[in-house]
Amino acid sequence: DTQFETLEFQAEARQLLQLMVHSIYSNKDIFLRELVSNASDALDKLRLEAFRDKDLEVDTDDLHIDLEIDTDQRTLTVRDNGIGMSRDEVVTLIGTIAKSGTAELLRKLKEAQDSTASQELIGQFGVGFYSSFMVAEKVTLLTRRAGESQATRWESAGEGTYTIETLDEAPQGTAVTLHLKPEDTDDQLFDYTNTQKVMGIVQRYSDFITWPIRMAVDRPDGEGGTKREVETVNSMKALWARPKDEASEEEYKEFYKHISHDWTDPLETVQLRAEGTFEYQALLFIPAHAPLDLFMRERKRGVQLYVKRVFIMDDCEALIPEYLRFVKGVVDAQDLSLNVSREILQQDRQIQLIRKRLVKKVLSTVKTMMTEDTDRYRTFWKEFGAAVKEGLVGDPENQETILDIASFASTHDAEQPTTLREYIERMKEGQEHIYYLTGASRSAVENSPHMEAFTAKGYEVLILADPIDEMWVESVNGFEGKQFQSIAKGQVDLDTEEEKKTSESERDQQQQDFAELLSWMTTSLQDTVKEVRLSARLTTSPACIVGDAHDVTPTLEKMYRAMGQ
Ligand code: ADP
Ligand code: MG
Repeated sequence: DTQFETLEFQAEARQLLQLMVHSIYSNKDIFLRELVSNASDALDKLRLEAFRDKDLEVDTDDLHIDLEIDTDQRTLTVRDNGIGMSRDEVVTLIGTIAKSGTAELLRKLKEAQDSTASQELIGQFGVGFYSSFMVAEKVTLLTRRAGESQATRWESAGEGTYTIETLDEAPQGTAVTLHLKPEDTDDQLFDYTNTQKVMGIVQRYSDFITWPIRMAVDRPDGEGGTKREVETVNSMKALWARPKDEASEEEYKEFYKHISHDWTDPLETVQLRAEGTFEYQALLFIPAHAPLDLFMRERKRGVQLYVKRVFIMDDCEALIPEYLRFVKGVVDAQDLSLNVSREILQQDRQIQLIRKRLVKKVLSTVKTMMTEDTDRYRTFWKEFGAAVKEGLVGDPENQETILDIASFASTHDAEQPTTLREYIERMKEGQEHIYYLTGASRSAVENSPHMEAFTAKGYEVLILADPIDEMWVESVNGFEGKQFQSIAKGQVDLDTEEEKKTSESERDQQQQDFAELLSWMTTSLQDTVKEVRLSARLTTSPACIVGDAHDVTPTLEKMYRAMGQ
């Protein structure tokens, strides 16, 4: 029974495939990087599984990736002898997209005005295996999972459906065969049956892959003719283990794309190494764009753990705190067991020390960006600031550093956010606090009646409109000796000493004039407010509601209620 079936791609997968089939992405070469990257992951997984499961009888001595070209059939095959996939895995891994942020991506793609915008979105998301359909009119995948006897054959033209059948025999691992589109063979440049061309792409995008990538290459035989020999075409050097001056900028970029599944260059590269009793190397990247799932529940952290060059795990939460979840990269530790588990890692003192150092290094890299390359820093903060601010609550030890690298929208400049240092430099004489107002959006804050007196008197107010702002601003210790003061709470005294003297008698008079009205209002509104008092903080609005100095703000109250508290 071969159980031949025709199945439909999941709706989201179908939409992404459409984009690939009609290839809105201009750099088609990268399909090969995606396939090689998958093959490399499959080899990593097999090596680890074979190590952990002694009953899995597989030979791991000769793990490799083969690239096979058939010029007559116009096919290109990427073959690995890695972990392979079961039939069910093929259906779920290839027939659907489990990646978080997919729905968000599709929504944004619909909104995208032109193809450049769409390309950029696709690039940030990275569509992996589906990128094969940019160059192939049909893709065949033949796979057998390590430890299983039956194999699976999958085939699709990328148009809505695929076929799947069970076979009795196939080599262990996965072979992906691309039946290349005819137009790609016209021009030498796009001819993926050209050995030199394919070899060039591998060397450009996948040189650092730590498994041999092999190809049959024609070489001079010394007698005037050529002979065909299988060669390893990549250098296989683990990039993070190389000293900085022995790797090029280009190599770092390609490595970033390999581990991040991002198609765009990183914003910043961060390298760290420690020698001595606990040896490790770290190669981290700050992406140029926030991922679509940065604020979603199922999001992952981007740091991988290797032990002595052996891949151990993705998404290693012990190595990087949640507020830096957008940082991608690799940590290779020398003295851990290959059997190490997530639970053990959380307890491990050495790992905690590495994490501390990584955090410090990432934050100091941002600080350097801030002083040396303002534009880059601004991009960073625009993309990741809202996440980094979570660290003000979650990482008290680095609070001061985070405040130092943070920027905030303010009434000073509608376009450009300000740092606290800049704010303090602009503070008016006699101003003791850093004024702020929280709210649901920038315009809600700007139009708040609380703003009136402050704007009138020329005081700058920070506009805190991210949900997380409510959480940290109450708990931080202030910055450089200045406390944060909400302009919506308690009594705010904006008068200078001089104004105070002249207005004191005037205010007493007002207080007497309005005493009756105020007490009447207080009684009438006693179910809703604590007190009605005269205020100097309004210039055009007749009244506003003020919280007590220690009250929970309306936004925070809403958040607590939403969390069921
Ligand atoms: P990603 O690599 O980002 O997960 P892909 O679209 O490239 O996304 O691949 C989807 C999934 O299909 C992979 O996560 C992997 O589980 C599976 N897969 C793809 N290629 C292979 C392969 N050569 N061997 C084993 N599994 C593979
Ligand atoms: Mg992939």
